Amino acid sequence: MEKPAILGGTPVRDEKIYYGRQWVSEEDIAAVSEVLRGPYITCGPKVTEAERVLERYTGARHAVVVNSGTSALHCACIAAGVGEGDEVITTPITFAASANCALYCGAKPVFADIDPETYNIDPDSIRKCITDKTKAVIAVDYTGQAVKADEIRAICDEFGLIFIEDAAHSIGTKYNGKYVGNIADMTCFSFHPVKTVTAGEGGAILTNDDDFYTKLVLAHAHGITHDEALMEDAPHEGDWYYEEISLGYNYRMTDFQAALLISQMNRIDEFVARRKEIVARYDEAFANVPGIIIQKNIPESDTSRHLYVIRLDLEKLTCTRREFFDAMSAENVQCQIHYVPVYWFPYYRHLGYEKGLCPNAEEVYKGIMSIPLYPRMTDKDIEDTIHAVTKLATYYAK
Ligand SMILES: *Cc1c(COP(=O)(O)O)cnc(C)c1O
Repeated sequence: MEKPAILGGTPVRDEKIYYGRQWVSEEDIAAVSEVLRGPYITCGPKVTEAERVLERYTGARHAVVVNSGTSALHCACIAAGVGEGDEVITTPITFAASANCALYCGAKPVFADIDPETYNIDPDSIRKCITDKTKAVIAVDYTGQAVKADEIRAICDEFGLIFIEDAAHSIGTKYNGKYVGNIADMTCFSFHPVKTVTAGEGGAILTNDDDFYTKLVLAHAHGITHDEALMEDAPHEGDWYYEEISLGYNYRMTDFQAALLISQMNRIDEFVARRKEIVARYDEAFANVPGIIIQKNIPESDTSRHLYVIRLDLEKLTCTRREFFDAMSAENVQCQIHYVPVYWFPYYRHLGYEKGLCPNAEEVYKGIMSIPLYPRMTDKDIEDTIHAVTKLATYYAK
């Protein structure tokens, strides 16, 4: 049996690899430079072009690009009419932004539990969380796997709720043959560097609904309109005139970021294919490793995975998750944990949320760990990661 590096053995590799990393090409750099040399570095044609690219890719009618995935979620909540006194249902196994956006609007995030095998929000638990204050459901495609959108749609229709999909992980995923972005009432993407395509920082909201679209455009740019049809004081005084008709923000993406996004979108099929290839290798390698549980994928989701999450079966191992994580680091395979249940954070605790709220989420959290997954990984990186996981699972097996 091989000795873990943390106990004095030889690490599986010399150079550290990380759980995720962007892939910026020379073409991407050239596309950004071209915009920087031109007249419009913001509010120009690249932003509009990026929106058309996302609409074409997903099949959605409208896209609005913004400066982050968090801004995208905030705009979606505003467009949904989320406000003071409302409740918004989401999952605790997500990045905090999925719940914070409800707080930005003065609403209360309500946490539904997850399915213990897919780790996605459980539609039955959503149902149990509904009150007469519920306004929207923010369902997160955790790791890139689509949520059970048909069931969530049916619940939202039954109770008159707005279905927002936090698709920060899942651009490129299809649900029943349809691209994510063209499924929920509004879908939010993130273009942070670890995500599938990047704009440095950035996000987008997609919708098929004209009314949501109008509200999203206003929310992301000061609530200002140049459209006479929307003005209160039309006919207006002259061509310079515009009106602020709602409270909006400055969540605009710059044109050089949009150029990076467009250039990255040229390679999305390649990125998705490589991610799927790596996931298939991992699934096969870990299928029969005692102590390692792999995430279940529902057949409706043709998943472009953003994260590869292994779950330690701690009953079958002599180590703790902390020890396994530190031992992976010593092998030079840097993992990450996605995520601490949102309501465990002090800020949420101070708002009155208590541990024990979502037992499945808390149980799953104890064992999960994201191992490296990004398109630029070499075959050796993949083999080293598999080696490290199996080496440690073997060493720490009961
Ligand atoms: C990354 C992420 C966000 C936030 O996106 P940013 O672009 O970083 O603001 C929201 N939700 C989830 C699930 C994410 O992973």
